[in-house]
Amino acid sequence: MDEEELKEKLSEEEYRILRESGTEAPGTGEYIDYDEEGIYRCKACGQKLFQSEDKFSSNKWPSFKDAVMENIELQEDQSHGMNRVEVLCSQCGSHLGHVFDDGPQPTGKRYCINSKALNFEEDNSDP
Ligand SMILES: [Zn+2]
Repeated sequence: MDEEELKEKLSEEEYRILRESGTEAPGTGEYIDYDEEGIYRCKACGQKLFQSEDKFSSNKWPSFKDAVMENIELQEDQSHGMNRVEVLCSQCGSHLGHVFDDGPQPTGKRYCINSKALNFEEDNSDP
């Protein structure tokens, strides 16, 4: 991924989140109360990351109980004095959010993802 190209393509805030591991303010993201059926793609490279069927209600950031596992990468993150697992796009390495072990069954996972890292697409048929 060409960083200059990405800077042009993304807003300042999107760039800060995706490329500099930023976090959008809690409760502000456009996909928090969003329950349309479809897929969520990486805003930087367009790779498919999450599906609406795995989304569950949350009030701070969009949350998913599962991901398209082959398209994400998990990495230990000890920034801000916390021990967390960072979620990255496997194709472009962009920061998406974090995953926690307090999600609903059957996965028990909570992928806590920035709205600004995602692009929703209504059509679910495209792989
Ligand atoms: Zn990506």
